Amino acid sequence: MTDATTAAPAAGNFIRQIVVADRAVGKHGGRVKTRFPPEPNGYLHLGHAKSICLNFGIAADFGGRCNLRFDDTNPAREDVEYVDAIQADVRWLGFEWDSLHHASDYFEILYLCAEKLIRDGKAFVCDLSADEVREYRGTLTEPGRNSPWRERSVEENLDLFRRMRAGEFADGARTLRAKIDMASGNINLRDPTLYRIRKVTHQNTGDTWPIYPMYDYAHCVSDAVEGITHSLCTLEFEDHRPLYDWCLDQLDLPSMPEIVEPMRRAGLAGPPSRPQQIEFARGNLDYTVMSKRKLMALVADGLVDGWDDPRMPTLAGLRRRGFPPAAIRAFWERAGVTKQNSVIEFSVLEGCVREVLDANAPRRMAVLDPLKLVITNLGAAHEETIEFANHPKNPDFGTRRVPFSRELWIERDDFFEVPPKGFHRLVPGGEVRLRGVGIVRCTDVARDADGRVTEVRCTLDADTRAGMPGADRKVKGTIHWVSAKHAVAAEVRLYERLFTVADPDDTSDGKTYADHINRDSKRVVQAWIEPAGAAAQREHVLQFERLGYFVADLADHADAKPVFNRTVTLRDSFAKG
Ligand code: ATP
Ligand code: MG
Repeated sequence: MTDATTAAPAAGNFIRQIVVADRAVGKHGGRVKTRFPPEPNGYLHLGHAKSICLNFGIAADFGGRCNLRFDDTNPAREDVEYVDAIQADVRWLGFEWDSLHHASDYFEILYLCAEKLIRDGKAFVCDLSADEVREYRGTLTEPGRNSPWRERSVEENLDLFRRMRAGEFADGARTLRAKIDMASGNINLRDPTLYRIRKVTHQNTGDTWPIYPMYDYAHCVSDAVEGITHSLCTLEFEDHRPLYDWCLDQLDLPSMPEIVEPMRRAGLAGPPSRPQQIEFARGNLDYTVMSKRKLMALVADGLVDGWDDPRMPTLAGLRRRGFPPAAIRAFWERAGVTKQNSVIEFSVLEGCVREVLDANAPRRMAVLDPLKLVITNLGAAHEETIEFANHPKNPDFGTRRVPFSRELWIERDDFFEVPPKGFHRLVPGGEVRLRGVGIVRCTDVARDADGRVTEVRCTLDADTRAGMPGADRKVKGTIHWVSAKHAVAAEVRLYERLFTVADPDDTSDGKTYADHINRDSKRVVQAWIEPAGAAAQREHVLQFERLGYFVADLADHADAKPVFNRTVTLRDSFAKG
């Protein structure tokens, strides 16, 4: 791996500093345990990768552990397809969890905790409808009003909550609410809902539960029972932290003997912890949308070819695009972790990708827009192989033999009859170096009925071939080629940015992100590649010389019918417009 992948400034960000300080005073006995808690309602995207790198990275830095936890408290939107994909993506990114859990594994514990809150007079069953709850809640400037059901007795609350659990009431008929403070300046503390009735089959627990815990309540308890020490989440949860702390303070989980057995059944060892929630800014990139809801809509509306479309910012998409996981890790390491929201240029990520691929991708030759070049002073049957280094800077990559013959494919734009200013490649009567071969001079062209050039005829200066006295003779341009007779036909998919504007989420001009889709973001061409390129294994990234990095498609590529996706060009042509 390169610099970019290994250079991890350990002191780095403010969260690492908090952990260092906690360990210095012996908090949690010096233990560090984090978790990555995705909701299984979509595929992971680049933003999630920031959280994954942070959570797994912090654990690794301090000899701690990191769990993967499916935050599956919202059954209507969840699916096992996502549960499986998320695990594959976390592993692909290079991380392995200490243990795998589901918030739904704690439904029994969460239920027992709710009964404790009721017994302690800290929660009540409320019969207000959702609309009424909203009405009673007040606003940012006005306090809310107490629910008329707030003063129910503990016995009545317990009875009603047990009947909610038994499925006696309809969806939405009742909720369990925390009894905190309807006048709180923080709306999250105005008697927030802890449980709602939802008679929906759950992807993990089936029809066992007609009631489901709310995120804020489930999350803090899940953290505690897993022994999490530092619960890292994004800034929008900052205002929820008082509720996170309130729940844990009221419950005092280590003093609850009734959860010991359910904890064991849920596969949990060790005693509960008193975790600390710490918020950091979401990672955002320009030319990208990064919300599962929007990504899901792109898929559903057929604007992309699925969650793993190489234009998608999903990890599955980036994988298919050929982005190395090491580049994504290096990118988020470089971006850092702060409390300031910001948008990073996509080109910064591409820079990380180029850096990793430059060091790791073997070089091959391919022609994407072919024009025939015939070397008229070679015999019709002329055939030879030429040895090429697989990597210009790293001899460990070894060499390969590339077939060469009288008829070649070159890129159409390496030849101009009337060249643009500063053009140093092939023109009528001019010379160019054929990479690894020698210098050719264009003597003639053939045309079709429309006058379009179909063939460039050249003579090869035998004195400029390897080992000959003129081998070092200078010409301004060098072009790549493949032998027409030996090249393998390949499908190459050329991808561009999915959006035409830097901020597709900006709706101020009345347009939405769907209006900013770049309709030319995928172009498929029939290309010719040298045989050693066709033989690439799926997911292997090659540099096609002078063109960019290309990955053998993980689903469609085969030796006999190669399919490559362009990962990234060699230079940032985008910035220049
Ligand atoms: P989305 O808005 O895309 O649906 P989410 O936050 O609802 O994202 P979750 O599955 O709940 O998705 O996220 C799992 C974890 O990943 C959470 O801790 C969340 O804070 C974090 N996360 C999600 N998006 C980002 C992001 N852009 N940058 C950093 N962390 C993120
Ligand atoms: Mg979420």
